Amino acid sequence: MPKHIASGLKYLTAVKLKEQGQNQQKIADELDIDRSTVSHYLNGRNLSWNSIDVAKTITDLEPKDFLKMTQAIIQNPEQIRKIVNICKKNEYETIVEDSCIGCGLCVDLCFMKCIKLDSLKAQITSRHCCGCQTCENECPTNSIKILEI
Ligand code: SF4
Ligand code: SF4
Repeated sequence: MPKHIASGLKYLTAVKLKEQGQNQQKIADELDIDRSTVSHYLNGRNLSWNSIDVAKTITDLEPKDFLKMTQAIIQNPEQIRKIVNICKKNEYETIVEDSCIGCGLCVDLCFMKCIKLDSLKAQITSRHCCGCQTCENECPTNSIKILEI
């Protein structure tokens, strides 16, 4: 079943990329699948509609759970980042307050790889943030705020 749900998640991602104006080859490259599979997806062939419904339910979960479920279904971290980033429901404003001590814990914890340290202060690339709030919850100085836009 997870394999079928993975197909559902890739289908949803392919449709979003198509809506963004990407061609089939680019979508295939992004998702590391062959172009004919993308063509099947976009033409609604070889797909289980139940799996798409389950995939939609997963993308509707709270961001942290959406990320966790996708991690359980798909093994490739790069693909997980792409799927979660493209299918997430909201964008996020990310704030790092001056109380940051530059410990680097959030850098290590962020699965989306959108935090780096600059001059001993965390910097977050908001457009890659999926809103999982792991950094906000684990920061020892409560310096991070993740706000849904
Ligand atoms: S975990 Fe908190 S204190 Fe540590 S680098 Fe990140 S924001 Fe700064
Ligand atoms: S909420 Fe924090 S840990 Fe989660 S993706 Fe955004 S920056 Fe990374």
